[in-house]
Amino acid sequence: MVSKNLPFTKEDILKIMEKYPTPFHIYDEKAIRENARKMKSAFKDVPGFKEFFAVKALPNPFILKILKEEGFGADCSSLPELILAEKAGMTGDDIMFSSNDTPSEEFIKAKELGGFINLDDISHIDYMERSAGLPEIICFRYNPGSLKEGNAIIGKPEEAKYGFTREQMFEGYRILRDKGLKRFGMHTMVASNELNPDYFVETARILFELIVEISKELNINFEFVNLGGGIGIPYRPEEEPVSFEAIAKGVKEAYEATITANGLHPLKVFMECGRVITGPYGYLISQVRHLKHTYKDYVGMDSCMANLMRPGMYGAYHHITVLGKENEAPARKYDVTGSLCENNDKFAIDRPLPEIEIGDILAIHDTGAHGHAMGFNYNGKLRSAELLLREDGSVVQIRRAETIEDYFATLDFEALKDFK
Ligand SMILES: *Cc1c(COP(=O)(O)O)cnc(C)c1O
Repeated sequence: MVSKNLPFTKEDILKIMEKYPTPFHIYDEKAIRENARKMKSAFKDVPGFKEFFAVKALPNPFILKILKEEGFGADCSSLPELILAEKAGMTGDDIMFSSNDTPSEEFIKAKELGGFINLDDISHIDYMERSAGLPEIICFRYNPGSLKEGNAIIGKPEEAKYGFTREQMFEGYRILRDKGLKRFGMHTMVASNELNPDYFVETARILFELIVEISKELNINFEFVNLGGGIGIPYRPEEEPVSFEAIAKGVKEAYEATITANGLHPLKVFMECGRVITGPYGYLISQVRHLKHTYKDYVGMDSCMANLMRPGMYGAYHHITVLGKENEAPARKYDVTGSLCENNDKFAIDRPLPEIEIGDILAIHDTGAHGHAMGFNYNGKLRSAELLLREDGSVVQIRRAETIEDYFATLDFEALKDFK
């Protein structure tokens, strides 16, 4: 039987539930720190390497503080994300601002924090100059169009709304050079949940080659390249994690063959991964509320798509372990469902699981990125708490569960009384 490990037992969870009722997400601090160190160590020979954690994957300031301690920065794409990073003590070189369709107040805040600003479109040069003034160092997001094949989640680059075309890259840097700017970066982001390390090496090579071309043609100097995020994780138990070493080795070789060979060393190499940093180290813990047998066998959970949207939205696989039944053989296939009035509110379809009873506790794996973060309030559903399992086995609540009062906070019932 294929399985995935858990950093806690059923007894541990029962104890946590005495204080924090289900559903909740729980994150494994020890595993997050170990993984961060593994990544840093794998990339230690890649010039200037730094990872900027994509805040959108797990926008919790406690997690950001842990990652800051491990030497990571934050990749932000909105005002609240910039503020979260700031609250976690990240400013200046710890901030990458990779947004799109950006409002002026976000450029202003990103500039005020002294972060690296990554423009998504050539028209944003003017827009930024008018709204915030140009920063000292500036970066463009490159969209390689049909030069690069897409992957399943992010789609084909030439159909993606992001970034500059190749011609616009040359034109954009020329405009900035002529305005007197001297410090430049280059970015791309063309993958999501990609498990093949070669994909990232090829992306790096495309950027390195473009940097060589533009540096020569415009006689400007690049300080950093940001390879984006998108490293995948093994959601399915039979899948293998991506080797950081394989990516680092390939990127270093491509760097030497292009950047070093053309006399452009040193150039700092950045990434802005989210999923691979925290994804595998989060779990949605939820209890079975009802069992239903009609044309199929249904397990009704005390959680729903508001807590984890990926299966309903993308048909994504999330492994499920029934706590205390880790060693039992599957008894039948179940649809594991939430309580939304939406038939795609299913955590799993036709999933072979041990015989389920009401009150069983399920751990849904790999919810540490794009899990709680994607939650929403459709159907009046409330988002759950987030807990942190510390290295000493203690548990802290790093976000409380929403209440009905939170849900009603934007409504004025007094005004309703007078409304005819
Ligand atoms: C979503 C996103 C990331 C992170 O993607 P992961 O798949 O979580 O690694 C990084 N950069 C940008 C610009 C993004 O939109």
